[in-house]
Amino acid sequence: MEKRHLKGSTFLFPGKVNVGYFQKEEDVWLVDTGLDDEAGRKIARYLEYEKKRLRCIVGTHSNADHCGGNAFLKKRTGCLIAATPLEAAVMENTFMEPLLLWTAFPFAEISNRFLQAKPSSVDILIRNPGIFDESGLEAVPLPGHFLEMIGVRTPDDVFFVADALFSETLLAKYHIMFVLDVQAALETLEFIEQQEAEWFVPSHAPAVENIRPLAEANRKSLMRVSQAVLDCCSEPVGKDEIVRRLGTLFGISMSITEFLLYSAAISAHLTWLRKKALIAPFIEDGLLLWRRSS
Ligand SMILES: [Zn+2]
Repeated sequence: MEKRHLKGSTFLFPGKVNVGYFQKEEDVWLVDTGLDDEAGRKIARYLEYEKKRLRCIVGTHSNADHCGGNAFLKKRTGCLIAATPLEAAVMENTFMEPLLLWTAFPFAEISNRFLQAKPSSVDILIRNPGIFDESGLEAVPLPGHFLEMIGVRTPDDVFFVADALFSETLLAKYHIMFVLDVQAALETLEFIEQQEAEWFVPSHAPAVENIRPLAEANRKSLMRVSQAVLDCCSEPVGKDEIVRRLGTLFGISMSITEFLLYSAAISAHLTWLRKKALIAPFIEDGLLLWRRSS
């Protein structure tokens, strides 16, 4: 397993999901763990080889690709897990991630490891921003993408910014990025742009010293989707139809899982447009439809 040095005691396991690594003497703190047991096993082997002790996993949020290695690592090492209360609730009850997307208990096709990690119990509830234990790691609220996501700033001034932003490659591939609160996501981008750090490490993009261009690309992506949703509402339209039209517009094909992820993101855009009084919902012939209100 490749470990990349960033600064001081802060490292990174680069991958589909970047895993942060902070070292204090023989103890290690991780930021997220990756998708599944296999991701956890690779990290465990590395730590055993290096004779390091895993003290704590700091979970940025409870999406399966970030906390999927938690259960394995906790069982193997007895480490602690730290997360915010709402993210902890999902890490401990991981059926809630597909439940959130489907709004009922999940059916077979969405009970997969991409949406539902193995549950893991959380030991440290991060209720406030700032330092939460003796590591000196700082929790930084990054609302918008999920329920109560945090970033983690290390004493070396490396800022792990989780899924507050995605790489240009992912923006170009998926177009409709997962978000639960568009306004909060935009405010989080603005907040990140104002931060000074030696390194910024998004979970799904390479580490960079200057985060501003990527923040701008992510802002544009959110605004483009919002505008496309608003355009759909020029005439009465239901959410599934908006998903279909945006899929065509952006040229994206989708699996059942992806459909639900896109659909949830579009719900967030509808909520935001409704909040700005640009659209309004109504029921017609048993369908929940949206149309422009001005
Ligand atoms: Zn993610």
